[in-house]
Amino acid sequence: MEELKNRILQDGKVINNEILKVDSFINHQIDVELLNNISSFLASHFENVNKILTIETSGIAFAIGVAQQLGNIPVVFAKKSKSALTDNNVYSAEVKSFTRKINSTVIVDKRFLKEGENILFVDDFLAEGNAALGLLDICNQAKCNVLGLAVVIEKSFQGGREKLEEAGVKVISAASIGNFENNTPIFD
Ligand code: 5GP
Repeated sequence: MEELKNRILQDGKVINNEILKVDSFINHQIDVELLNNISSFLASHFENVNKILTIETSGIAFAIGVAQQLGNIPVVFAKKSKSALTDNNVYSAEVKSFTRKINSTVIVDKRFLKEGENILFVDDFLAEGNAALGLLDICNQAKCNVLGLAVVIEKSFQGGREKLEEAGVKVISAASIGNFENNTPIFD
């Protein structure tokens, strides 16, 4: 999406040629008109979706945007938890945080994922793919069908797409960054 690429160039800040900060329009302050346009673009690539799944916190806004475009379907967000291992009522997975470099356990209550449901993942960023692989693990436990990942910004040089496609997950991104050069995004 040209609109998103232009906004990234205008307002994004790159840290150490690795992390893109988009907190003035994507994940702290949110430009709702842009969110609606991105959500409509992402939703147009998927059909027969029963439910959206994301991880708290920054994926939730776009998950709702895409869910509205797909007919106000439910949104579930995996929660970061400390006591998951003792709880039989939740599905859980270990996820390495790209930005904080720590592992955390994410959980989804078993009531909110049913066998045979068609699930679409939504997130703000795709980097190494660990967040989406964690959600895939949870969906496999719940015997759900994963239709794909709809992501706002992909950093294609960090390998997430390859891992997900290898696992059979279709990936659609609204903007794909092939590299950072001198802290400037170079789009694919
Ligand atoms: P992955 O699990 O694919 O390695 O990383 C995806 C998650 O890490 C996203 O949910 C996002 O919260 C965070 N993330 C990865 N790269 C960036 C980035 O460049 N900027 C920001 N703001 N978050 C990122």
